Amino acid sequence: MSTTLLATWKEPGKVAIEAAWAKRATGGSLLDCLEQGLAVAELDPTLMAIGLGSLPNRDGEIELDAAIMDGTDLNAGAVCALRGVVPAISVARKVLEETPHVMLAGEQARRFALQRGFTPQNLMTPQAIEAYENWKREPAKYERKYVHSLEEHYGDTITMLGWEAPRHVIAASATSGLGWKTPGRVGDSPIVGAGVYADDEIGAAGATGWGEELWKAAASFRTVEAMRRGLDAQAACEETVRHMIRRQPRSTWMPCVVLALRADGDFGAATSVGEFPLWVCRDGAMEFRSYPGLAAEYG
Ligand code: ASP
Repeated sequence: MSTTLLATWKEPGKVAIEAAWAKRATGGSLLDCLEQGLAVAELDPTLMAIGLGSLPNRDGEIELDAAIMDGTDLNAGAVCALRGVVPAISVARKVLEETPHVMLAGEQARRFALQRGFTPQNLMTPQAIEAYENWKREPAKYERKYVHSLEEHYGDTITMLGWEAPRHVIAASATSGLGWKTPGRVGDSPIVGAGVYADDEIGAAGATGWGEELWKAAASFRTVEAMRRGLDAQAACEETVRHMIRRQPRSTWMPCVVLALRADGDFGAATSVGEFPLWVCRDGAMEFRSYPGLAAEYG
């Protein structure tokens, strides 16, 4: 069956998309593929983007957010502010498949995961501890720079979209959120309509970048609704990002990215600033694309 997978950011996205395609090649469903892609990246201690060994909050604790949404029936599962359990995306899938709920949060999400057989684990690797100590010593130096280039920003999140012929889509996202965040802070990634959205009638969309701004824009839902009005995926992403640049001046301080995959397989992406790197896998053929920031057009 014809399949397209998308994954955000250069380094972590490559790990995720390769693992997702490997699952597909052995007959996995789209849900299985996206879960597998994100789970492999979360479990990789060398990737500081998500999961084990990612960037902690101000108290030195890693808090994970993840969501998965099925375009078949708009069913979704998510966790937020989850501590000491990986992969968060697999816990989110359990919420989707084994509860009547959409989201579980914090300590209760952790308890749910442990009841479902996940193993408690210290997620702070030596690399993450070093990053935290460096930040504590010189917060200004390690605080996020406001405008990121491709070189200096490789994402704290992986968002993935999957499509299979004739018209089925899935959206999923996993993140440790912004580094040095206020404890308890949750971004767009696990929020249906903000970080992910999927509806087989139209298509799927996802987001990455500054979660507060993307959430306020309801970026993923907005993008799917733009496709519902007849725009192609690229035009829909650009419309959302341009709307954000116009209405939310802060969306140009840091990348605000949306990506979309229409129910017929057409795809696109756009970012407010920086260069956004996207991995595309079409029936196993991997391609790396880069999207320039749209704010440059406004001078
Ligand atoms: N959107 C994520 C958040 O705000 C961060 C990212 O995409 O890098 O939590």
